[in-house]
Amino acid sequence: ATPTALLVGTGRGAQLGILIKGPEILESTRRIDTVVLDKTGTVTAGAMALESVVPAPGVDADEALRLAAAVEDRSEHPVARAIADGRGRPATDAPGPASTGADGVTIGTLQVFDFRSTAGGGVEAVVRTAHSGLGGSSDGGSGSGGSGGLGARRVMVGRTSWLDEAGVHVPDEVRDAVGRAEDDGATAVVVAWDGSARAALVLRDPVKPTSAEAVAELKSLGLRPVLLTGDSEGAARAAAAEVGIDDVIARVLPADKAATISRLQGEGRTVAMVGDGVNDAAALATADLGLAMGTGTDVAIEASDITLVRGDLRAAATAVRLSRHTLRVIK
Ligand code: ADP
Ligand code: MG
Repeated sequence: ATPTALLVGTGRGAQLGILIKGPEILESTRRIDTVVLDKTGTVTAGAMALESVVPAPGVDADEALRLAAAVEDRSEHPVARAIADGRGRPATDAPGPASTGADGVTIGTLQVFDFRSTAGGGVEAVVRTAHSGLGGSSDGGSGSGGSGGLGARRVMVGRTSWLDEAGVHVPDEVRDAVGRAEDDGATAVVVAWDGSARAALVLRDPVKPTSAEAVAELKSLGLRPVLLTGDSEGAARAAAAEVGIDDVIARVLPADKAATISRLQGEGRTVAMVGDGVNDAAALATADLGLAMGTGTDVAIEASDITLVRGDLRAAATAVRLSRHTLRVIK
């Protein structure tokens, strides 16, 4: 039989926008000593804005952005939304509404085929102008010439190391631009076609206004906050410093996030994980306590024990206080 106090505790949680899957979860909440926080969408708003485009010599920045946006239109990643939706740049540069046809998706005058996504790496697709004909025999990349008779290009957008692994040439100008952006706390991805990186796209994701207060509350409850992200060390350090986190684990591939939680558990810690993305689901399930942002993906919510309805990190601290209080009443 469930003690009435636990039911009252979960009911009180619901009133506060903290959905607890079962009364027994209050007990796990009380035991945690470490809180691992996903960066993008959990500590930060997850609403990246495109800050600048740094083209390689001889590359037209607008064309690089147009091709990147056409591919990213198919991805849900925060990086993709900023690039495809034109957030942070004039509306005249926007790729325009997408329409789906039998042969692919048309974005403005561009058609996108054979879209592929690599978790933690980037996205790629074949892009061609709607007027270049569908026969396809002359496809295969027409070099770096003008945008007139463009033909088809395999366009990749993603992190530098992923492009390196794919054998794409990354000119020093582009590599340096990425390094500078990351040192400055921004997130940078690279757009490439025809075997060569063409531009760095610099994005910035502001931390949520309540995140610093939330981290301070978690610390005052005796919990150790850790920032976990697939993003660069620079972007991670900048966000961590802004909210008061000392421990940063960066450049973790989606598949390795759960293993990171296990490692912390192996060190004797009892770990809560707070996340929002598809790439956080396994880590949320592995943690002793999983908390999902209600503003996040369904997969993350399903993998979690608690949902923070309003996507406000302060609710994580409230959940811990609530469980401690509820269990004190019982004992
Ligand atoms: P996070 O843990 O911050 O949510 P991810 O593991 O999802 O990060 O992604 C890590 C990195 O992989 C991103 O910072 C970006 O460089 C690259 N990446 C992932 N998805 C995309 C995409 N759709 N377009 C471009 N780059 C991407
Ligand atoms: Mg996230």
